[in-house]
Amino acid sequence: MKEQWLYNLKRKILVSLLGILTLSILVTLAFIGMMLREHLLTVSKASTQELSQVVETSLKKLMLIGKPEVLQEALAGINTGKISTVFIVDRNGKVVYASDRAMLGRLFDRHKDTTCTACHKSDRPPQNVTTVIKTEQGKFHRIVSVICNDSSCHGCHSPSQRIIGKLIIDRSLKDNDRLILEVLLIIVAAGVSCILFLWFFVSRKLSSSLDKYIDEILRQNSELSLLCTMIERLSKTIDIDELKPVVIDIFREVLDADEIDIILRKDARELRCTSWMRGNDACQRKKLESDAALAQAVERWKQGVLNTAMAGGVPSELYVPIEKNGGPLALIHLVKYKGGFDPFRLMLVDVVVNNVSVSFEKASLYYIAITDELTHLYTLRHFRFCLESELRRFEQSGTNLTLLMIDIDNFKLINDTHGHPVGDLVIEQVAKCLLMTMRDNDLSFRYGGEEFAVLLPDTARDGGLVIAERIRKRIEEMVVDERYADLGVTVSIGVATLTGHADSGINIVGIADGALYEAKRAGKNRVIVAGQNDRR
Ligand code: GH3
Ligand code: MG
Ligand code: MG
Repeated sequence: MKEQWLYNLKRKILVSLLGILTLSILVTLAFIGMMLREHLLTVSKASTQELSQVVETSLKKLMLIGKPEVLQEALAGINTGKISTVFIVDRNGKVVYASDRAMLGRLFDRHKDTTCTACHKSDRPPQNVTTVIKTEQGKFHRIVSVICNDSSCHGCHSPSQRIIGKLIIDRSLKDNDRLILEVLLIIVAAGVSCILFLWFFVSRKLSSSLDKYIDEILRQNSELSLLCTMIERLSKTIDIDELKPVVIDIFREVLDADEIDIILRKDARELRCTSWMRGNDACQRKKLESDAALAQAVERWKQGVLNTAMAGGVPSELYVPIEKNGGPLALIHLVKYKGGFDPFRLMLVDVVVNNVSVSFEKASLYYIAITDELTHLYTLRHFRFCLESELRRFEQSGTNLTLLMIDIDNFKLINDTHGHPVGDLVIEQVAKCLLMTMRDNDLSFRYGGEEFAVLLPDTARDGGLVIAERIRKRIEEMVVDERYADLGVTVSIGVATLTGHADSGINIVGIADGALYEAKRAGKNRVIVAGQNDRR
């Protein structure tokens, strides 16, 4: 898929965003965990310190009394639940009193035990040294105090200095550790749920909003390419008949319409409706009288009172007027069978209308340039252009091509007898007869003053003769004006046909002209078909 890269980009953005968020959460949680742990340890240390001070004060008093059994009894009685062991070592490092009698007599290496910093390193004895030690049973918070009132270290000084020893109080850190572990577990659980929430809910939300942006980008992209194609297609044609199916196609693509009618001014009086319906490939001419609602709308449009404002909701029928310099040029009627038109696509209608009206305007100027004002037939210049392209087509496909050259008989006399305005009227009526007799693909031209040419593509000599004869007859029977009942208008027609590749390069105009000349010579009001011998 062309737009896959957008979805890949979306996935990358999502993963990066969630990755950053997850990482931030993890870092924050780790920081909170560390802070909490630090805080818990500090609080625990402070409470142990407090407890040990109470124990120490009371033990000191007992020691100074000098009754060892009382001291031992007091120590053995200590069971606060918070302190695990209390013992006193003498200057040799031997346990002399202990809350746990099993410890009595044990020896501590006093040199390794550097709590007496006065003697070993510093110049002042420590009053309280706390440390965390590890024993076989677990982790302990140890508080070591020198137990003398005023004197310094016990092990390095003489007995006369009344140094008795060191008081060591251990407190198990098991409870603290469990507490800290629980807190950390809660934090980890909160973190994991937070991350899961992020992945499951935030990612879904984020994904759907990104999808909306992607949809919007794709929609705008498709609209843009649609408009580009439309402008390109409109710019490729200037002929009104070629333009109509293009415009129908554009409206069909932009609005996905099921039925489209284009009502266009053919001339000052006549409107022409071209129709397309879903299921039909080709556009067809439609009689306005066959669709009463459309005919009424066209009437209102002609009077300038057609209401094209869209009512609320989604419309399923639209009238789009195309204007030229404020004047009506065309009316486009669109119908959607099921549901209504896509509101997003309706927003494009203005752009389409602007481009279509420019194209219609160009086409109408082109039409004016190639059309004779009096007869509404194509001009001589356009005849040369059409003949060239028909000859090209003939040379490629080898199908028949017939040309009729038509000249009004004794036209000078009509002018001289009834005047030029009547002559003009005759020319106009003859042209009308031509248009009425012709088929859709035939092309008729005003070749000169009272001379006409008719190009009949894909028409053999016999077919050409039939059409020429039909034209001649219709003109002969035509009543130009009741005031001039005696005005018998007739025409002479020369017919020339190219029938195959062998006729390539033949001057078809010269041959048809020759046949016309023959018709005049033979008495006028007749059709002469040029034979092979007439080639020049
Ligand atoms: P023929 O039967 O041999 O064709 O005779 P004709 O009188 O038709 O032939 P001719 O070509 O001599 O006369 C054509 C006349 O048509 C000459 C010109 O004054 C006149 N004419 C040319 N263009 C117009 C036009 O637009 N309006 C009018 N009223 N007359 C025109
Ligand atoms: Mg003439
Ligand atoms: Mg003439």
